Amino acid sequence: MTPGASQHSKGQPGIPRAALFGLCPRCGAKGLWAAPAQFAEACTACGQAFAAHEATGRSLYPALLPVIVLLIGAALWLDDNVALPVWALVLLWGALVPTVVVGVLRLVKVLILAARIARETEQ
Ligand SMILES: [Zn+2]
Repeated sequence: MTPGASQHSKGQPGIPRAALFGLCPRCGAKGLWAAPAQFAEACTACGQAFAAHEATGRSLYPALLPVIVLLIGAALWLDDNVALPVWALVLLWGALVPTVVVGVLRLVKVLILAARIARETEQ
């Protein structure tokens, strides 16, 4: 932690850690995710509401569209340069696409949640 960090950020997990391990951005307790990319209703430790602050629908397009374009580009490049058998493509993209999309969704949702919590506590 940097010396200039505020007292409010003590004990809080970083955004990537909160997204990856499902930690509450306010208190660090587990239980942020009810589904792979959907918040639980609230934190069981501190009571921070998660679902009320969840970004959904079109607000996530700016984060997802570039990722989808990159995945399509990677698929086209791989098909042109490596020409894997169909069964390998099904296994590769069937595992990679959901993992990448859920990872990006988790990261963006936690980022938005942390910003909303920080704005809420400042008021
Ligand atoms: Zn909490």
